[in-house]
Amino acid sequence: MTTTIALITGANRGIGLATARQLGARGMTVLVGARDAARGRAAERALRDGGADARAVPLDVTDEASAAAVAELVEQEYGHLDVLVNNAGILRADGTALPSETTLATLREVFETNVFGVVAVTNALLPLLRRAPAARIVNVSSEVGSIAVMTDPAGALFALTSVPYPTSKTALNMVTAMYAKELRDTRIKVNAANPGYCATDFNGNSGFRTAEQGAEVSVHLATLPADGPSGLLWGFQMDAGGGYGVLPW
Ligand code: NAP
Repeated sequence: MTTTIALITGANRGIGLATARQLGARGMTVLVGARDAARGRAAERALRDGGADARAVPLDVTDEASAAAVAELVEQEYGHLDVLVNNAGILRADGTALPSETTLATLREVFETNVFGVVAVTNALLPLLRRAPAARIVNVSSEVGSIAVMTDPAGALFALTSVPYPTSKTALNMVTAMYAKELRDTRIKVNAANPGYCATDFNGNSGFRTAEQGAEVSVHLATLPADGPSGLLWGFQMDAGGGYGVLPW
């Protein structure tokens, strides 16, 4: 039986680590993308201690050479890739997070990781995903990238005004939709995940969901059956009472 191989970016902590743990528990070989080698090794150890077949791989998503090196490693060692979870992401804002306070430096920094990094890593790995029997790409996005959610005066997120992070996730949503269109006649499905507000370092552990709960969303999309959807933003629905489902763009 061929081993199922999953690569998760930013998997050394937070939702990415939880995603690696859950995919590992399903019997997948999990490649733990980490930009810092020591943090990657620590995550690999923790996952292995929990019984997962885990292997740390150096990957800074803002570095195209790093993405190419991971693709080379996967090619040499496994010959294909079944699951790519583009999970690595950063949150930055200037001042009190008003649009008028936004600096281009911050905007560029956030887009480098949250948007350009996803395109770089996806394009590097796509030839290997095409070789898998039923590959799944999961782009970890957010409901704050949904223009419909963010502009609903009755919605819980209407008060948020920041530009860098929300616009990066809006762009990521469109990236997801465009890849899904390109790949619609293949066996590859591409979806965006909304983990919901999860307690991680990302937000000073202020989220009301756990990283494990956030990871459930990515795992669902990473294990969709052949008749599952492609080209959706799916996950936690805060304004719909907290269930899981399709979110509006
Ligand atoms: P986190 O705890 O801050 O972890 C972020 C991970 O991304 C870390 O492993 C970090 O590595 C990695 N990373 C950052 N920049 C990277 C780069 N250039 N190359 C490779 N890895 C990089 O965040 P999280 O809460 O788990 O968030 C994971 C994803 O969920 C993000 O895309 C985020 O936007 C999304 N999300 C989170 C929430 C939430 O409430 N937490 C809600 C919606 C969406 P280092 O350890 O080296 O920094």
